[in-house]
Amino acid sequence: MSYQIYALKYAERDTKECMFFFREPSTDTVTLHFYLWVILGGPHPVVFDTGFSEEDARKREARGWVSPAEMLRRVGVRADEAPEVVISHLHWDHWDGYRFFPGARFWLQREELEFWTGLAGQYPHYRFFAEPGPLADLVTLNYAGRVKLVEGDTPVLPGLRAHFVGGHTAGLQVLSAETARGTVVLTSDASHFYRNIERRDPVQIITNLPQMLRGFELIDALAGSPDRVVTGHDPEVARRFDQVEPGIIRIA
Ligand SMILES: [Zn+2]
Repeated sequence: MSYQIYALKYAERDTKECMFFFREPSTDTVTLHFYLWVILGGPHPVVFDTGFSEEDARKREARGWVSPAEMLRRVGVRADEAPEVVISHLHWDHWDGYRFFPGARFWLQREELEFWTGLAGQYPHYRFFAEPGPLADLVTLNYAGRVKLVEGDTPVLPGLRAHFVGGHTAGLQVLSAETARGTVVLTSDASHFYRNIERRDPVQIITNLPQMLRGFELIDALAGSPDRVVTGHDPEVARRFDQVEPGIIRIA
């Protein structure tokens, strides 16, 4: 298979360096770009992560929000008809846009669901990163047959696989896809910035530090070359790959 992949940037927000690099004391500003990704060329499009809602953008002070459904429309994909959406993890900025996908089945690692609907709620340091309403809706979606729980490495389509990484969250998964330029890895928040993976400098928002470090090794092994790694929040993605119009970055 030879898939085409787009990173779709739908919002951005300024934050501080110390939030995104382990034991980094600097409070200098870094800008996060928020993306979702879409894989084309198979029997149906596969969307990776849902983005977040306009309400989240207001609440969390993100600027330049464009509906993830609108970004998908610009590459010819209807969010309301997308059948399969792989979820990297359940942080608000990756899961809260699930309502844009009323017909989708959501692929999620079992440990991720268990952590965010269980233990995470016991601790303020974790509660901050997820919204209870969208997490509660997972129960309804699951009972409606719209959640596919997976464990470990899982084929999504031929040449397109989800891989358990953990580390940043209990059941974070990344995607690898065969493309004309080789195997591309979409890391989502297994590596927010290129600095995380390239300097083995993990984010400080974690559930398991050794898993996070092993995730870097897995991503490099899957991609085989650093120029096929697409990180989760780095504005640099638009420079390393081909930005065909504002916010639409052709990866392969
Ligand atoms: Zn994120």
